Amino acid sequence: MTDGHSKEAGRTRTDGTYTSYERLAGPLDDPAGEAGYDGQHPPRMGFFTDTSVCIGCKACEVACKEWNGVPGDVLDMTGMSYDNTTELGANSWRHVAFIEQTVPIQEDVDILGSLSAANNSGDEAGSPTPASRTPEETAGTRGSDLGMPGVGPPVTPGAQGALQDDREVRWLMSSDVCKHCTHAACLDVCPTGSLFRTEYGTVVVQEDICNGCGYCIPACPYGVIDQRPDDGRAFKCTLCYDRMGDGLEPACAKACPTNSIQYGPLDELRERAAERVEKLQERGITEARLYGHEPTDGVGGDGAFFLLLDEPEVYGLPPDPVVTTRDLPSMWRYAGAAAVGTMAAVAAAFVGGRR
Ligand code: SF4
Ligand code: SF4
Repeated sequence: MTDGHSKEAGRTRTDGTYTSYERLAGPLDDPAGEAGYDGQHPPRMGFFTDTSVCIGCKACEVACKEWNGVPGDVLDMTGMSYDNTTELGANSWRHVAFIEQTVPIQEDVDILGSLSAANNSGDEAGSPTPASRTPEETAGTRGSDLGMPGVGPPVTPGAQGALQDDREVRWLMSSDVCKHCTHAACLDVCPTGSLFRTEYGTVVVQEDICNGCGYCIPACPYGVIDQRPDDGRAFKCTLCYDRMGDGLEPACAKACPTNSIQYGPLDELRERAAERVEKLQERGITEARLYGHEPTDGVGGDGAFFLLLDEPEVYGLPPDPVVTTRDLPSMWRYAGAAAVGTMAAVAAAFVGGRR
């Protein structure tokens, strides 16, 4: 890379383990350990959201609100799609995006039917999983009619905007959430310690300590954390920290009927996700890809990552997120140099004035 944001930029080894760059933006094996938890802390936990099996039911949104006491805020449809939440916010800690696309007609592919026992997060007894469902319960095909009417007036063959014979409509649906970044700028800039790294490597905001300064909001490269206008404090997904301590999976993952939202040790989720992408690609879904799993990306990888069926931008995700506090050392260097320069100029003016 040649630009000023090279992943090698600023590499100055500060101890035997990590460089200063890695401490701010690069790969970091153990964010909880880096935050000061001892070697006995639990493994890093996270989310794998497999959008290829999301049916847009919004059970995750509702379960999150119910468990966490998050107020309802949007009851109107946007008029553009079935998405009435529109984005993540202080009162929407999960957001199911609905994207309508016209794509070339492709052969039906068994997307849901390829789910395996490997998808069983298995962290909570009795939790329904694809492995425990019959094929009839989970089977589906690409291009299946999900019962969603088209948007807009009925299409007359030959009319402007009508579908061509070789194209079909498909819906992409995806439940977005806080990414629980390896390097979380929201946490870096918080002056009160309201945002903290948990022993599970996740990022939690404590609403009773938040002073409403709002620094975290522009710092988040994903536009996740948000202030409630009525009280000014910041809110976002906690990955159900209170449930984790009791060995329970987060409310959204528990409620997801297709196991599109999977919770577990991040290493296991990453292995499972790699297998899933490989399977989909073998089945001809070559556009399947992972987002947020790469530890060399601009935030050191995410604790919540996704399997997508199109470019991240299509889902409203930034293609190349960068932790906004990455350049702090160089910013301090420039600020220091500017201060020294200013002091030198003042001293020179003072000395010159006395002659
Ligand atoms: S920076 Fe944004 S996405 Fe990352 S942990 Fe903070 S709120 Fe979540
Ligand atoms: S983990 Fe908990 S707080 Fe986060 S989106 Fe899921 S239900 Fe909401």
